[in-house]
Amino acid sequence: MGCRTFTMTRPTSLSRICLLLIASIALTGSAFAQSRHFTMSAVGDVMLDRAVGSAIARNGTNSILAKVRDHLRRSDVRFCNLECPLSSRGAHAPHDCVFRADPSTVRVLTDGGFNIVSVANNHTLNCGARSFLDTLDILDRFGIKYAGGRRDKVHSWWPAYVRAGGMVLGFMAYTDLSFDSGAWNKVSPDLSNLKREVALSRRQCDLLVVSFHWGEEYQSVPSERQRKVARAAIDAGAGLILGHHPHVLEGLAAYKGAPILYSMGNFVFDQQQGVKMQSSIFDLRYDESRGWDIVATPVTIHGPRFGPDYPPADTAREIAGRLRKLSAKVGTYPQLTKDNTLWLQVKTHTAVAAPAAAGSGR
Ligand SMILES: [Zn+2]
Repeated sequence: MGCRTFTMTRPTSLSRICLLLIASIALTGSAFAQSRHFTMSAVGDVMLDRAVGSAIARNGTNSILAKVRDHLRRSDVRFCNLECPLSSRGAHAPHDCVFRADPSTVRVLTDGGFNIVSVANNHTLNCGARSFLDTLDILDRFGIKYAGGRRDKVHSWWPAYVRAGGMVLGFMAYTDLSFDSGAWNKVSPDLSNLKREVALSRRQCDLLVVSFHWGEEYQSVPSERQRKVARAAIDAGAGLILGHHPHVLEGLAAYKGAPILYSMGNFVFDQQQGVKMQSSIFDLRYDESRGWDIVATPVTIHGPRFGPDYPPADTAREIAGRLRKLSAKVGTYPQLTKDNTLWLQVKTHTAVAAPAAAGSGR
């Protein structure tokens, strides 16, 4: 009987174990299968006027991003800040920083494969509303989505949506600058519009990206205001913050599982050499179950071509090393790789429930 029991129960136990194993493998497999992911390349300011405009007229629209287009196009999503209107109407005084690029320069953006741009910065309205609307027309015609501006000012905060890896990504863009010129979509001093609009937009997408044109020019450490705005946006639902305007790199940070790229520097610009012309391409990979992997690949911009290029190894190491130090100043410690890139992982944030006593009064 004992022997019979043994022979009867052993296969049953084994079967159970096997079934459990199969089930767990199947569940794990399906969890992986269901873990959606996408890649994005994000870069900073793209200005297509002044000496860049002359370079385009001389060498053609495909000359500017010739060295990096293949790199950018490998990603599902390509983002930049478009730092000039594209129009043939309105004021034009490029040497006084009143930018207006020829509409044909939109082909620089299509050459790089950019599919989403920010139109919320201090140059968006350089030539008035008419040329801003021309810019939106051209972007529409070439299939490039934009965030931070609409045809009616009141709806300028509305997100643009991009599909990637089976996910709907929302993109919003704001300026947060102390001077008065600039875009229609601005962060209010008390952040109330930002918090409300981000929370509303978050419900419409799987992941919300918020771009800010903010901070102080040529400052490599973010201001208190930048930090406060970033945290407020993430608290309201943003999953990634893309910053620009200082024209130099600022550190990579993270808050509640959301990366903050405080300033991505210049990408296509004609400023003087030095740190203003040293930048990076930020390649981000997002996986729903794991979070973010971010790789910053150093680039430099040189006249007279004024397009980004990969620098020699010692310069690349210097740029990546500087970005690492700047990141340490905002609390993160990315890894310098042997390829002279900088790598940062930001794990998906798991909210820890507040103790009942602490939470009860909220
Ligand atoms: Zn700016």
